[in-house]
Parts: sequence; C-alpha cells; structure tokens
Amino acid sequence: MKVCVLGAGVLGVTSAYMLAKRGHDVTVIERQSEAARECSFANGGQLSYSHAEPWANPHVFPKLWKWMRQEDAPLVLKFSLDPHMMRWGTLFLMNCLPARAARHAEAHLRLGLYSKRVMEQMIEETGIEFGYINKGILHVFADQKEFDHARHQAEFQAKLGCDESILTKDEVLALEPALAHANDPIVGGLHAGIDASGDIHVFTQKLAALCAETYGVKFLYNRTVKTLHKAGNSISHVETEEGYESGFDSYVMAMGSYSAVHLRALGLYVPIYPMKGYSITFDANDETPIISVSDAARKIVYSRLGDKIRVAGTAEFAGYNDAVREARIAPIVRGVNQLFPKADLSNMSKWACLRPSTPDGPPMLGATPIGNLFMNTGHGTLGWTQAAGSAAILADTIDKRPTEIPLTGLTIDRNLIRL
Ligand SMILES: Cc1cc2nc3c(=O)[nH]c(=O)nc-3n(C[C@H](O)[C@H](O)[C@H](O)COP(=O)(O)OP(=O)(O)OC[C@H]3O[C@@H](n4cnc5c(N)ncnc54)[C@H](O)[C@@H]3O)c2cc1C
Repeated sequence: MKVCVLGAGVLGVTSAYMLAKRGHDVTVIERQSEAARECSFANGGQLSYSHAEPWANPHVFPKLWKWMRQEDAPLVLKFSLDPHMMRWGTLFLMNCLPARAARHAEAHLRLGLYSKRVMEQMIEETGIEFGYINKGILHVFADQKEFDHARHQAEFQAKLGCDESILTKDEVLALEPALAHANDPIVGGLHAGIDASGDIHVFTQKLAALCAETYGVKFLYNRTVKTLHKAGNSISHVETEEGYESGFDSYVMAMGSYSAVHLRALGLYVPIYPMKGYSITFDANDETPIISVSDAARKIVYSRLGDKIRVAGTAEFAGYNDAVREARIAPIVRGVNQLFPKADLSNMSKWACLRPSTPDGPPMLGATPIGNLFMNTGHGTLGWTQAAGSAAILADTIDKRPTEIPLTGLTIDRNLIRL
C-alpha cells in the first residue's frame, strides 16, 4: 500500500518506520528541512511510561485559579477569546472530575506500558544510539502534601500493573547523589523503575535516516501542506505550497499541534490545542544528575543527554506562538538553582515549542470518519514516551489487524464534532 505520512516529528517518523518495515511504500511530507525540528527537537527527554496521571485531574483543579494569576506557575490556563481555546479549556475543567481522570490515567498507562515493550524492540532491532539511560525516573518531593498525593497515585497504578518504589530522603540521595546540595527540603521520593530517558531529536533523525536507507522511505522536506483534498469520503491528494502530491492509498495525520487546523478544514473538529512548553540545555558537571529526575511540585523534568543536561517543563497557552518568553524560562532556572545549585548554566540554550494537547490527556490514534485518513497525534506531554506504541497501533489499524492493546479512550471519536 502507498502511505503518505504528514509530518516528520517523532510520531510521523516512528509511523513511517513501522509501516515501511511491514512492506508499505511510504512517503513523508514535512515543511522543515529535516526531521524533528519542531516539538520533537529539545523536549524533556523522559520516556515516562509510568506517568499516567493526566494534567486534568482533581488534585490540579483547586490550584488552577491561583496559577491563573501567577506568571511563573507550572500551568497557566487563561480565559481567551479564541473559541478553540475556550472549548479546550471547558473540556479540560470537566476532565478534572475524579472518575474521568482515573479513566484517562488507565488509558495513559495502557499505552505507556505497551510503548515500553515496542520501544525496547525498536532500540534492539535498529541499534540506534540516542543517549539512552535505562535507570528509571526519580520523582523528588519537597512538599509532604505532594508526596502523599504521589503515593496515593502510585497505589492506584500498582493495581494496574505498574510498580513504583517509595523512597526515604536517604534513599533518594543514594540513587542520585547530586541532590545532596539541594536547597529544597526533600521529604521523600518515588522511583519509577520502568522509565528511561534519551534524546528525542537524535533518535528521530537517526530513525528517519534508517527509514530512507534501509526501507526506501521518501522524505519530501521543505513542503508545507496547505490543503488535504477530498473526493467522496477519501483524501484524494495533498496540496502543498510547492505543488501537489497524489497517488496514495492512505494518509497519516502526524502534524502535531497543526493537525487540528487541517482536520477542521476536512470537517472534523477535534480538541487538539497547542500547549506551549519550555526547555533549557546546559553542560553537565559532577553536580548534575545522571538518572532522570522529576521535580513534582514545579512540574520540571531533568534528563542527562550525553554531556548535556536538559531541563524542561511549564505549560502555557499562547495560541500558535512558539517564541521563547524569559518570564517562563525564569521558573525553570529557579528550579535548577533549588535542586542542583552547583549546576553551571553559563552555557545555557533556551527553547520553546507547542505540545499537541488534548483536554483529557491521551492522544488520538487510528481510524477517522474519513476512509483513508488515520491519526497519530495529540500526545501532549507524552509524545516521546508513547511514540513507539502509537506507531504500532497506527500500523495495525492501517493493516486492518487487531491492535495488541484495546483502544478505549485513545481514538478520535471522543469529543469529535462533525462540521
Ligand atoms: C518543553 C517540552 C518538554 C517535553 N518533554 C517530554 C518528555 O520528557 N517526554 C515525553 O514523552 N514528551 C515530552 N514532550 C512532548 C513531546 O515532545 C511531544 O508530544 C512530541 O514531540 C510531539 O511529536 P509530534 O510528532 O506529534 O509533533 P512534532 O514533533 O511537532 O511534529 C509535527 C511535524 O509536522 C510538521 N508540520 C506541521 N504543519 C505542517 C504543514 N502544514 N506541512 C508540513 N509539515 C507540517 C512540523 O514541522 C513537525 O515536524 C515535551 C514537549 C515540550 C514542548
């Protein structure tokens, strides 16, 4: 089958890999000059398979009002005149209800555990090196209430087959000695042993190269998709700013935050909205972490990527504006100064990008109401973590094979409006 993948971020490239490996003739259309230049460029690096709790949850709900008036808050949900943002925000608030949050956490964990399995196979079969560190993720708590909440969440996840270890302060320091200098009063930690970390940009670029060299995948870079044209209930061809691409049997929507814009033009209104995040990258030294760390209260994550440290986090709504704002970099830097005060930030680079986020958390995978259009987008804060499993699900759906995990809560039909 001839398949056209739209977008060469981590979701587009892993989709291309899975499809090409199964013998499909794959073409990828991408507006940048190479793969992984947008949201899959400088993210937090965490393969946090165990991270199930969605942003929309009852624990976050009471904090939202306070965060709205706080420029450096981890999540800034704003009133907006943008109707898409208003709809997204309303759905987000509704999804903070306990039963919904529990359902979405289960869907995240189901996809996370599956993604770990598929990712490990991919690492083995491709041999790609990308600064992979398979030591788990250490969640650090300086606030007793946050720690209690995390223990409660860990008990819930244990019932779903995901075991995490609760740690004393001494055990936290034994696992990551660089935390010994922390200014925060660490009250405890949680070690998610199944998790890992690695460089999304290096991985995606190397996988794209392997796809082209080994499986003959065609990457059409510097092509900006303008319109997807329909004939009956199928996509007939793609109009780009540079010309037309046609002759495909199936299409995969993997254009990250921009997917929603193109789906709307096709009459499919899905609540995928850009949630802007920031990262900084600086040189590692003896006083920076090796194991990937999550600072639970600040919602900031740390990953060692070769000889660099990546620190990422924060969420704000700025429409499709991905400019770096110093006011949002400042809380990340403050967080580093609290947890790793001996880190050397003199050589720091800054980055911001737009996570393709759904208001309930999980992505949108698989079939759409348009016969030959398939989804692999909307992964929000977990696109790197869930890429491998999502790509396998996508390929199974296109091949009309049963997927290896149930797709409840992972498809486009939730909150879809047909225009
Ligand atoms: C600060 C930050 C930290 C993060 N940390 C983590 C983490 O630690 N772990 C984790 O699992 N996830 C993390 N994420 C989320 C993760 O990075 C994303 O979910 C993931 O990169 C999304 O990949 P994607 O392929 O869907 O989107 P993208 O990587 O944005 O790819 C979409 C592609 O489509 C292309 N495109 C868009 N429009 C067009 C068009 N009109 N024509 C042609 N091409 C087009 C774009 O150029 C882009 O290359 C983080 C995100 C951010 C912002």
